[in-house]
Amino acid sequence: VSRHRFCCPEAQRIGDDVRIEGAVAAQIRRVLRLRPGDQVILFGADEWEYVVRLERVEAAAAHGTVLCRQPPVAEPRCELTLAMALLKGEKTDWALQKGTELGVSRFLLLHTCRTVAFPDEQRAAGRLQRYERIVREATEQCGRLRPPEVQGILPFEPALQMLRGGRVLILHECAEQRLGHLLSVESAAASARRALCTSGSLAIRSSIGPLAAATLLVGPEGGFTDEEVARAVAHGARPASLGPRILRAETAALAAVALAVEALEGSLAFGEPGSS
Ligand code: SAM
Repeated sequence: VSRHRFCCPEAQRIGDDVRIEGAVAAQIRRVLRLRPGDQVILFGADEWEYVVRLERVEAAAAHGTVLCRQPPVAEPRCELTLAMALLKGEKTDWALQKGTELGVSRFLLLHTCRTVAFPDEQRAAGRLQRYERIVREATEQCGRLRPPEVQGILPFEPALQMLRGGRVLILHECAEQRLGHLLSVESAAASARRALCTSGSLAIRSSIGPLAAATLLVGPEGGFTDEEVARAVAHGARPASLGPRILRAETAALAAVALAVEALEGSLAFGEPGSS
């Protein structure tokens, strides 16, 4: 059965009875015109998703009964941050939506030297609200449990300081090494380290940190300046290429995300902690 999914942490649940109010209730009644007997999936309150049969669909609220709860199957098993320069028009919206579908856990929106799409403070607040709505709707659509965080709009240097110490890759047309190669070599090394550690105590295991985490830095339409690339490298980032063709920023962002999720999730070999 195909069921609409809603991120609805505010749904009130007493035993198996659920009351849904606000924007989700309006969507159920007015937009989707769901009726008593239809089933929906609610998530966002805890680590489960709840299959709910609608009993009454009223103007103020929808009421339903929980039929069962199930673990989500589509939650990404890696922690990928996409730190991208704000782009013009609807390109940022597009990257947020598709990046959520592909498995990004956090978006950092950056103001770089050549960013041309920088809104004033008042508009920036409205933009962030829109971005949060976009990632929430993409989360509902693609089967994930937690909407990715959206942070920003951050200047480049403070963003680099915040990311320092993690595995950071700066996507750059002139980089010598390919992103896929860098990630697979590093993932193989991380797997080998984990294999060593898992023979030891739990304390050692927990000290190795997130199993598969990385940050991708992607520039604006005009690219990063040489100085920005040098600053990122000074903060520990590795330059990474997506091949000889110059991609539009939003294409580069999504190609890099797809490669990174594949490499990071794939590095959690069968049977390792976190791979189930
Ligand atoms: N500076 C370039 C120019 O104007 O000719 C192009 C910038 S590109 C449109 C925007 C961003 O996409 C770059 O800053 C980089 O992060 C990423 N990008 C595009 N093509 C890439 C490639 N082949 N390898 C790595 N990154 C790429």
